[in-house]
Amino acid sequence: MRLLLVEDEIRMAQALSEILRLEGYEADHFADGTGGLAAVENGIYDVIILDVMLPGMNGFEIVRRAREKGIRTPVLMLTAKGELDDKVTGLDSGADDYLTKPFMTKELLARLRALTRRHLSAADKGLSFGDITLNKDTSSLICGENSVRLSDKEFRILEYMITNQGQILTREQLALRIWGYDSEAEYNNVEVYMSFTRRKLGFVRSKTEIKAAPEAWKIREEAASPVL
Ligand code: CA
Repeated sequence: MRLLLVEDEIRMAQALSEILRLEGYEADHFADGTGGLAAVENGIYDVIILDVMLPGMNGFEIVRRAREKGIRTPVLMLTAKGELDDKVTGLDSGADDYLTKPFMTKELLARLRALTRRHLSAADKGLSFGDITLNKDTSSLICGENSVRLSDKEFRILEYMITNQGQILTREQLALRIWGYDSEAEYNNVEVYMSFTRRKLGFVRSKTEIKAAPEAWKIREEAASPVL
């Protein structure tokens, strides 16, 4: 699960990032509003933690702009004590939940779980597309009676593409989603893993195709001609 943390208090952000990683989140951190907004607008996150007071642009403004652009990622706002109307403003601007600083880590994690459950429960159950199904427990791709194990990256590529079916996903979105900001992965990795993933689709004799456009991909149920 990929999480975005926008928080300008560096020590707090570092501590939080570490806790989130231990909890199994892949966390990207931005310390200012402008960078935070750009990251939110990539649309690659499962959940976002947003501080209110940030240099560049405040958290409310970030949510408002993101929602205007149709980005529905659940947002948890962090508000400082004393910012009395923050709760109201946060929910008005499109945030899904808020938490007052200082908070207990346990409380934060519980809120995150609630937000992602709400957001992902539909997608989690329906990890099927066309003639294929992804099995999270066994990390495998199933088509009819055929199945094959997927590597972590292959699984996440297919999961991301199925969750965003109907959309064209750019190389940048895929690279950020699968490898993250901090990674030194070359953009070429996306091409390489995309070809591995396609081979697996062929291996289980699926009719599902990953259609390529220049530097972008889209998953579709049936190829014009069989993939094999
Ligand atoms: Ca702040």
